Amino acid sequence: MRVINTIQDLKTCLSEARKAGKSIGLVPTMGALHEGHASLVRRSVRENDITVVSIFLNPTQFNDPKDLERYPRTLEADSRLLEQCGAQVAFAPSVKEIYPEPDTRHFSYPPTDSVMEGERRPGHFNGVCQIVSKLFMMVEPTRAYFGEKDFQQICVIRRMADDLGFRLEIVPCPVVREESGLAMSSRNTLLTADEKVLAANIYRVMKESLSKGLSVRETEAWVVNELNSIDGLEVEYYSIVDGDTLASVNDWNDAPHIVGCITVYCGATPIRLIDHIRYK
Ligand code: AMP
Repeated sequence: MRVINTIQDLKTCLSEARKAGKSIGLVPTMGALHEGHASLVRRSVRENDITVVSIFLNPTQFNDPKDLERYPRTLEADSRLLEQCGAQVAFAPSVKEIYPEPDTRHFSYPPTDSVMEGERRPGHFNGVCQIVSKLFMMVEPTRAYFGEKDFQQICVIRRMADDLGFRLEIVPCPVVREESGLAMSSRNTLLTADEKVLAANIYRVMKESLSKGLSVRETEAWVVNELNSIDGLEVEYYSIVDGDTLASVNDWNDAPHIVGCITVYCGATPIRLIDHIRYK
C-alpha cells in the first residue's frame, strides 16, 4: 500500500491506473479506523481494481472546536488496518494541502441538509460537501463508498453529486455494530466501559419500537421517553422521516422508505452519538 500526502502524487498515481482502464474505489474517512470503516474498504477492494482510502480530519465540517480537538487520531494503526484490508492507496494530506485558501463555497440541499444534524450542527454538511466534492475531483472514482451509519450524510452527498454532475456510483454500506448493538464509531473510544453499556440502549430501544404498533408521533415520543428515563442518556432528537428525501412524515404510509434518525448525548463528558433504524 502506498501512503500519499500530496494531491500531485495522488493524481500521478491514479492517472496511470485510469489510462490502463482500471476502476477506482474511494472510501473517504477521518481516520481512527474501526471495523465499520474496514467493511467499506473491503467492499471497495472486492469491487474495484484500485481502492483509495482518504484519511483526513476535515476541519470545515466541525462546528464545535472541542469536538475536533478531542477527535481520536491513530494514523499508524489506521495504515496497518488498511494494509490488511488490501487497499492500494492511503491518501493522508495536511489541512494546508486540501485548503491552501479557505473554502468559500456554499452548498445547500434542503431538506436533506437543513433538518436533524443540519439544524443542530450549522455548517456541518457544508463542510462535508466541501471535502467530498474535492475528493471526488481529485480521485475521479468509479465508485465511492459511504456508511449508512451517517444516514443523513449519504442523502446530502447524493444530492451534491447529482447537482455537480459527478459521474460515479455512490455505494451505501450497512452499519457495522458491536455485539451489544452499539453502532461502531470513532467516537466510541471516548466512552468508558460503563458508558458503552449505556449507549447500547440506543439501538435496543429503537429496535423495540419497530413492533410497538404505535403511530409515527407516538413512536418518536416513546423512543425519547424510554431513552431519557435511563440515567446518563439524553436524546437530542428522534425524527422519523422519509428515507429518501428526509422530509418529515406524519403517517407510516407517507413514503415508500421510512427511517428513524437519532442523536443522543451519552455519559459525563458527554459524547454525542448518532444512529438510525429503518421502519420500512
Ligand atoms: P468517518 O471517519 O466517521 O467520517 O467515517 C467514514 C465513513 O465510514 C463514513 O462513510 C461512515 O458512514 C462510515 N462508517 C463509520 N462508522 C461505520 C459503521 N459502524 N458502519 C458502517 N460504516 C461506518
